[in-house]
Amino acid sequence: MLLAEEREALVAAGRRLAARGLVIGTSGNLSARRDDLVAVTPTGAVISELTAEDLTVISLADGAVLDGALEPTSEVPMHLAVYRATGAGAITHTHATTTTAIGLVCDEVPMIHYVMIGLGGPLRVAPYATYGTQQLAEHVVAALSGRQAALMRNHGSIALGSTVAKSVDNLELAEWCAETYLRAATLSAALHGPLTGPGGVTPRELTAEEQADVINQVLAGGYGGTKKIGK
Ligand code: 13P
Ligand code: ZN
Repeated sequence: MLLAEEREALVAAGRRLAARGLVIGTSGNLSARRDDLVAVTPTGAVISELTAEDLTVISLADGAVLDGALEPTSEVPMHLAVYRATGAGAITHTHATTTTAIGLVCDEVPMIHYVMIGLGGPLRVAPYATYGTQQLAEHVVAALSGRQAALMRNHGSIALGSTVAKSVDNLELAEWCAETYLRAATLSAALHGPLTGPGGVTPRELTAEEQADVINQVLAGGYGGTKKIGK
């Protein structure tokens, strides 16, 4: 079986996403790349119920099916375009609630938290295009430029990673940023009135200097991993 390890990682990712409420039923698709091969979820599959045998392996070069019995996801053009543009190792796409909601009314999730530096900056919203089209693939590639995640208007969100687990981490982080922004904007509107009206208060963004300070802090001491005392 081609890409056995990647298949197992994708199956586990499907369960994890469903357990956290980030994927509902057949919405969304996942993939993992090794060299010129890509393992993808099949079209129409319930993402939380996949088995390793259900996945389909296609060629990065032209999308030809190389292994598997089920038709690959309708979003093959998007997955292949993103791999070609970024060299990522894995892609997670779902219709998670808050990223989808924010994409309906905003052009980006602004730089509201320092963890967004790890995602590459403010999260853009890719313009709408029909699912499965080359047009959607192009919009998503542009929105992902220099980013690990992007929102997709009237559709959902997408994240990259060097591994399947990291692409799921990034999708979860994008969803957390969108949810936090939504809560702040909603609270602000309740406290101060419409964000853009007189007296409106938009959620605070980090300044360029504050972002540079975070980068220096991470470079000096690392971040997001445990450390032995005294080392
Ligand atoms: P597939 O079932 O073809 O993967 O489509 C689901 C989806 O999310 C399309 O964007
Ligand atoms: Zn979708």
